[in-house]
Amino acid sequence: MSKVLIIGAGGVSSVTVHKCAMAPEIFSDIHLASRTKSKCDAIAASVKERTGMDISTSQLDADNVNETVKLIRKVKPDLLVNLALPYQDLPLMDACLEAGVNYLDTANYEPPDEAKFEYKWQWAYQERFKEAGLMALLGSGFDPGVTNVFAAHAMKHHFDEIHELDIIDCNAGDHGQAFATNFNPEINIREITQRGRYWERGEWVETDPLAWSMDYEFPEGIGKKKCYLMYHEELESLALHIKGLKRARFWMTFGDQYLTHLRVLEGIGMTSIEPINYNGQQIQPLQFLKAILPEPGSLGPLTKGRTCIGNVMKGLKDGREKKMYVYNICSHEAAYAEVGSQAISYTTGVPAMIGAMMMLTGKWTGNGVFHMEQFDPDPFMTALNQYGLPWQEVEL
Ligand code: NDP
Repeated sequence: MSKVLIIGAGGVSSVTVHKCAMAPEIFSDIHLASRTKSKCDAIAASVKERTGMDISTSQLDADNVNETVKLIRKVKPDLLVNLALPYQDLPLMDACLEAGVNYLDTANYEPPDEAKFEYKWQWAYQERFKEAGLMALLGSGFDPGVTNVFAAHAMKHHFDEIHELDIIDCNAGDHGQAFATNFNPEINIREITQRGRYWERGEWVETDPLAWSMDYEFPEGIGKKKCYLMYHEELESLALHIKGLKRARFWMTFGDQYLTHLRVLEGIGMTSIEPINYNGQQIQPLQFLKAILPEPGSLGPLTKGRTCIGNVMKGLKDGREKKMYVYNICSHEAAYAEVGSQAISYTTGVPAMIGAMMMLTGKWTGNGVFHMEQFDPDPFMTALNQYGLPWQEVEL
């Protein structure tokens, strides 16, 4: 029986709140706070209708540490779950330290004026969390998150050393829109338009954005799709924690229509984060673009098809070369039927709930700042099967 304070009321948060409410034996009390209170209330109404559970809500500017500290002192949660945006990671970690509460998020901190995906800012909190006897769990979504746990699971059960890791994220769904992103458009476009980067023999190798691609044959009838090499934040911690790793790369599928739109938007400067003066007002073109694109949450009823995200891993077991694929397939329609969201929000929101469960039930404990692959993967892998993200593994 625990109390959780969830921050942010977007696509991912909606899934996490619904899934927490479906496990009241652990999440007996849920408080939801975000910048726009009406969005919290809409989620609370849907949760009430689907599960009968009452969720309390508040308005909160999570950039304001004092405001968050006040709310934490009022709500007295056992854990704060940050499902706002990466910009809020540091102020929320500061608030947790000040108010003495554990912390969890799904994406690493990013400075608003620079599209940089690095853990250095959050790793700098290591000593303070340790000294305060608190735990911060970073990146408890799907990727990062489940992909880190898949790597830990493979290390524990299938390999003595993993030499090559390819994380492959396929969205084989279709929302029928000319152009839309499946999670926060600003963060998504910042991530995709940055330079590519992968880990090889102890150093980072850079590529032009989306310059490298490969065709991959996805299982269970999804078929062959083109995947593009990108930098993704879990590579940074996995390169540090997975023994013997010589190469780690991240790939994502994109359709031609998506890429054509993205190139045009980039070409005309609409994806820029450099502020411009418009009629006497400073605006960031990318934030303006976000305002006119469909809200990811609105794609729920429109999206058909499945996602397939997993790790292809090559290494050694008992001196023998071995190659494994561990993956999850998630249906957009099934996710919508269950919690009213498409599968991208679902595949992030469920692991956030499971990460919170690992912390609240004492299965994952520690003082300091942690990544998912640093804990025993077994209870998390069991919970994935139990709470809607069943996984498969095959030897290739
Ligand atoms: P949304 O944009 O749908 O939701 C973000 C929410 O945060 C909104 O409700 C927004 O408020 C709120 N918010 C923003 N700024 C503040 C603030 N200063 N104070 C309080 N609340 C604020 O995003 P998503 O749900 O798609 O994504 C949520 C997080 O999940 C992101 O960090 C994203 O990077 C991460 N993510 C992680 C993935 C993974 O696999 N690890 C995959 C997908 C996403 P308002 O409603 O007023 O705008």
